[in-house]
Amino acid sequence: MSELFALFGGTFDPIHYGHLHPVMALAGQTGLQKVTLLPNNVPPHRPQPEATALQRVAMLERAIADLPLFEIDTRELDRETPSWTVATLEALRAERGPHQPLGFIIGQDSLLSLSKWHRWQDLLSLCHLLVCQRPGYATQMETPEMQQWLMANQAQDIQQLHQTPAGYVWLADTPLVNISATEIRQRRHQGRSCSDLLPAAVIDYIDAVGLYRD
Ligand code: ATP
Repeated sequence: MSELFALFGGTFDPIHYGHLHPVMALAGQTGLQKVTLLPNNVPPHRPQPEATALQRVAMLERAIADLPLFEIDTRELDRETPSWTVATLEALRAERGPHQPLGFIIGQDSLLSLSKWHRWQDLLSLCHLLVCQRPGYATQMETPEMQQWLMANQAQDIQQLHQTPAGYVWLADTPLVNISATEIRQRRHQGRSCSDLLPAAVIDYIDAVGLYRD
């Protein structure tokens, strides 16, 4: 059985337990060797994150300091152009070779909007999609076509993720964690505590640099 590596993209403005806890559970269930966090470059015409790219990376570093499962790859921040997931996956696939099993982790909300992703139909030729549950989102796809696509590609057991380099969707049985970065930013702007939503080391950083304040 080959080792399975996974990538996890996000804005991470900021990273929180809704990212960390489901992904750690997923790693335990599927035998993930490593999870590479890929902070997104948000193109100028889109609503910008409140934290700068450097601040988002600094928060990731603090969040994973004691979690050897994780590492950070800033390649999407090093480009001026929008960071299409499919392009990043093509680059990583070229680096790691055609046989390495690779997963790309998303939450249920991202699965539901997958058909809006750039070249979404190429994703499964490059990776497996590993989907974490997220409370408040439908478990069925929005159209019969997308539901059919999901059922046609859904992995039935974990071996399939390790024995093939790409091609399956794994619907993981991960804990439901009802946290969003939006809620954290809102709470901070209202001067409310967030201590139950993200690691203390990240909160200390947010306090130290004065992020998410009016
Ligand atoms: P925002 O509230 O700013 O939109 P977010 O909390 O949704 O942010 P992102 O950085 O946009 O976080 O999410 C990155 C990835 O993590 C996405 O695939 C998303 O589906 C997933 N994700 C975020 N929060 C959760 C959660 N609570 N449970 C499961 N998956 C999550």
